[in-house]
Amino acid sequence: MGLPADYHMHTPLCRHAKGEPTEYAARAVAVGLDEIGFSDHSPMAADDFDNWRMRAAELDEYVEKVQRARRDHPALSIKLGLEVDYLPGHEDWIRTMAARHRWDYFIGSVHYVSDTWAVDDPSRLADWKGRDPFEIWSLYFDRLTAAASSGLFDIIGHADLPKKFGIRPQQDCAPLYRPFLEAAAKSNTAIELNTAGLRKDCAEIYPSRTLLDLAHSAGVAITFGSDAHAPAEVGLNFAEAIALARDVGYTHCCRFSNRQRQVVAI
Ligand code: ZN
Ligand code: FE
Ligand code: FE
Ligand code: ZN
Repeated sequence: MGLPADYHMHTPLCRHAKGEPTEYAARAVAVGLDEIGFSDHSPMAADDFDNWRMRAAELDEYVEKVQRARRDHPALSIKLGLEVDYLPGHEDWIRTMAARHRWDYFIGSVHYVSDTWAVDDPSRLADWKGRDPFEIWSLYFDRLTAAASSGLFDIIGHADLPKKFGIRPQQDCAPLYRPFLEAAAKSNTAIELNTAGLRKDCAEIYPSRTLLDLAHSAGVAITFGSDAHAPAEVGLNFAEAIALARDVGYTHCCRFSNRQRQVVAI
């Protein structure tokens, strides 16, 4: 059985990743992947929203870069996706982007737990001080549940991102996970096993085994992603991710074409 597709990788258009898509594709071939997908940080309706994503006018250039990678690596299946930030009120903009290209999938990610605070931003670590981590988790999972309910996404990205810096609630978080997973199951939205967590302070795949166990029980499907921001990160730690998925009982994962889900064995 081949490796699962790596559906989470970035490009220099987001201004914090290195390497052209064709270089990520070359690395994918070298590590034995047969399918990858690009999912760079999508533009916001307003380009000055933050400084870590492509601008709206760059969306066509992004698609061209992915098409160039396809031409350079005809033996590799290369999907066209986006990592789309979910914020309440942005739904119409997300639909507008969806209509602009023939996307294979959208990863819906929550980074913003308020209009201005991206919970994974290291320059905002001071915002955690004096707050109960459970309160931050609650804000995050409220938005993640709304994202899963929206039907705007095929996959939910890094489903427990607030653990990135290793700051975790003492409380049982299952009451936060369950509504999110019920929403994902109901809307047929998959979640990803994102190996970037292994490269952060939390030193653990997103999501945790606890969350993944509940996801499996709830009938939520999975994908795999390295969240590569450089070609060397493509397919990184997939052996661990596959082992975790199998260990909690998953036998299949998803591939996407033209926003249609196909189930394949892992
Ligand atoms: Zn990024
Ligand atoms: Fe992300
Ligand atoms: Fe990402
Ligand atoms: Zn990401």
